Amino acid sequence: MPRPTHRPGLASPVWAAALIALLPPAPAQAQSDVTIEQVRDGLHVISGIGGNIAVRVTGEGVVLVDTGSPRRFEEVERLVASVTSEPIRYVINTHLHPDHTGGNPQVSDDVELAAHTATLDLMLRRGLPAPPRTVFTDERTFRTGDAEVRAIHLGAGHTGGDVVVYFPDLRVVHVGDLLHEVAPFIDYEHGGSSAAWVTTLDRLLDLDFDVVIAGHGPLMDRGDVVAFRDQMETVRTRIRDMIRGGALRRHVGARIVSEDLTWTHYRSGGFMARSLSGLYEELAAELRR
Ligand SMILES: [Zn+2]
Repeated sequence: MPRPTHRPGLASPVWAAALIALLPPAPAQAQSDVTIEQVRDGLHVISGIGGNIAVRVTGEGVVLVDTGSPRRFEEVERLVASVTSEPIRYVINTHLHPDHTGGNPQVSDDVELAAHTATLDLMLRRGLPAPPRTVFTDERTFRTGDAEVRAIHLGAGHTGGDVVVYFPDLRVVHVGDLLHEVAPFIDYEHGGSSAAWVTTLDRLLDLDFDVVIAGHGPLMDRGDVVAFRDQMETVRTRIRDMIRGGALRRHVGARIVSEDLTWTHYRSGGFMARSLSGLYEELAAELRR
């Protein structure tokens, strides 16, 4: 009987190293592709000006989640004005990154500009312009018109100051970059953590919602949250096993590539390009404990 020929499987480092060189870069969002789309009655999402921006129209003013990329807030205001004549009354930043806070300097002084206390600290530390004017630690509820908007810190993940903004009457939640259409960026420099990310998404799933506005990409649902959470747990387990098996940091990039892990399909995605080194350190530290 002929011996079966050896075919390298997905776990083979040789195969993976060859594959990683062929991985496509992450898809880039076209600059000109700016849209405002209705999610529910009284809730719209603006895409294409940095991170996704939620626009909650309440009858007595607009609550905005995030302000997009720097120097483009006139576009945001124009799109808001295309769906309501109400003024912007509250702005909530989901986290510090400039594609979510870049419009802050153009937010008028009479608007309450709120974020988590860690986001204020981090923006001050980085010298980012127009940090939040009011802060909270666990939760802040905004009541305006007939709407309730809850800004909640469920824990760290993408950064240390992550906030989700929950619209309970609409069963929609904006989660900032705790969800991303391509792959997560674990921003260790600013308090990010893969362990905390899993716990934070577990807490998110305790909320009653069926539509998710991710930081980037199309609308998502509970199943996307579960899949994202599970992929985070899987990459943690696999890299932890590699470290136990003696893998060095430089080995992990090739060995983690796998067909079932969508985050590893893009070499310039936030996971492959920006998170692996820190994740290795995080898991190695967990193993030393
Ligand atoms: Zn971000």
